[in-house]
Amino acid sequence: CGVFGIWGHTESAQLSYYGLHALQHRGQEGAGIVVTDGNSLRPIKGEGLVNDIFNEEKLRAATGHAAIAHVRYPTAGGGGIENVQPLLFRSSTGSLAIAHNGNLVNANHLKQNLERSGSIFNSTSDTEVVIHLIKKSSHSPFRAKVKNALSLLKGAFALMILTKDMMIVARDRNGLRPLSLGKLGDAWVVASETCAFDLIGAEYVRDVEPGELLYITNNGIEVDRITDEVAAPRAMCAMEYVYFARPDSNIDTVNVHMARKRMGRELAREVAGIEADVVTGVPDSSLSSAIGFAEESGIPYELGLIKNRYVGRTFIQPTQELRERGVKMKLSPVVQVVKDKRVIMVDDSIVRGTTSKRIVRMLKEAGAAEVHVMITSPPMTNPCFYGIDTSTSEQLIASSHSVEEIRVAIEADSLTFLTPEGMVRATARPFNDPNGGLCLACFTGEYPTEIFSDTVLPHEK
Ligand code: 5GP
Ligand code: SF4
Ligand code: MG
Repeated sequence: CGVFGIWGHTESAQLSYYGLHALQHRGQEGAGIVVTDGNSLRPIKGEGLVNDIFNEEKLRAATGHAAIAHVRYPTAGGGGIENVQPLLFRSSTGSLAIAHNGNLVNANHLKQNLERSGSIFNSTSDTEVVIHLIKKSSHSPFRAKVKNALSLLKGAFALMILTKDMMIVARDRNGLRPLSLGKLGDAWVVASETCAFDLIGAEYVRDVEPGELLYITNNGIEVDRITDEVAAPRAMCAMEYVYFARPDSNIDTVNVHMARKRMGRELAREVAGIEADVVTGVPDSSLSSAIGFAEESGIPYELGLIKNRYVGRTFIQPTQELRERGVKMKLSPVVQVVKDKRVIMVDDSIVRGTTSKRIVRMLKEAGAAEVHVMITSPPMTNPCFYGIDTSTSEQLIASSHSVEEIRVAIEADSLTFLTPEGMVRATARPFNDPNGGLCLACFTGEYPTEIFSDTVLPHEK
């Protein structure tokens, strides 16, 4: 998912719309904006793409000086308008809205306790748990309630809460999901990715720190921490650099395109000696890394695959059959580039293996003599509990197959994965934390948080 928020601007709804537009790649299932004019909270929401949900009329009607907004990542079974965020709760003691990116690992436990004490849930989203915790908190005033509620959450969250006179911004103690802070004139802006700042002409200030809690009001910004516990190691999702984030975004000041290029370079160093005629990337996520691979290996970069940009990401379609059809609709080979050539095909990740197999076949049908697959992430052997929907262990081909078995399954002439060490080096994050402050759990099985027996995967909700 993607989140966006703005405080202190008369065009907050319009700017949120542009912000969501820049974050569209982070979720295509639904989107929403909640605006406040200081008196009440007003939602605009819908299912589908940002452009289909909002129009000038709706945005103009939503006047106010502050807004929070969200694009929803599709997760099988978790659809429906009631799960489209921001979630808005009206109450005589003060309405509030919440927009959340990430997955809580103790949501089930918290929910059971809340239900036992009388809470009724309207959605299947774990985000609603946060609202009930705030409402039920015995602390006072409101800020203390929020702090108390957030201190009970375990797992991944980059979230924003909006009331009629305050915007609260928080990030989990490991900083699993990205969140940046910017300024547009006198207005504060918050977004999952810095590409949203660029689009609206806002200036990047800094990333929100792991465990940080910000209160933004007309009096300015106040910095607090969710708990007084010692800071946890940083563990920002490595897949953000590999696949999820847009290449023009910077996460913790590291540009995503440059990080991908270095991943390609690392991979070329790790497979030193491979003979091939052309290097090609799978658009769009792997073009940067293919360029890096070509530069390092001296093998020319070529445009061997073209993407039809009017088809959504393949993960949108929930069934395997539709997903397989989606891949074909999406990509075409450039025959003149690959015919009779030994092709190096760089891609970001292998989850189920379906995509790679299709592309290898496509390249061979177009006449490629050999196809060598280079993946700029390590084999994904473990599920993600933090909000990237890579499904269960059974669906991850690398959880049950060796690299050689995967190579056979995808019909490639060779297959190489980037090592976790190569990935850490390539991202070159400016931190001394383990793994350079990256989460690598889906590759190593070392989860930065506790995982409980009833922890629910994002798509199981
Ligand atoms: P699969 O191996 O499951 O057929 O597909 C892997 C491909 O799906 C990757 O190359 C990647 O570009 C794309 N993809 C779409 N959504 C996601 C996601 O959430 N995580 C990962 N790792 N890859 C995804
Ligand atoms: Fe990202 Fe993998 Fe960690 Fe999930 S487990 S947050 S996908 S690095
Ligand atoms: Mg891909």
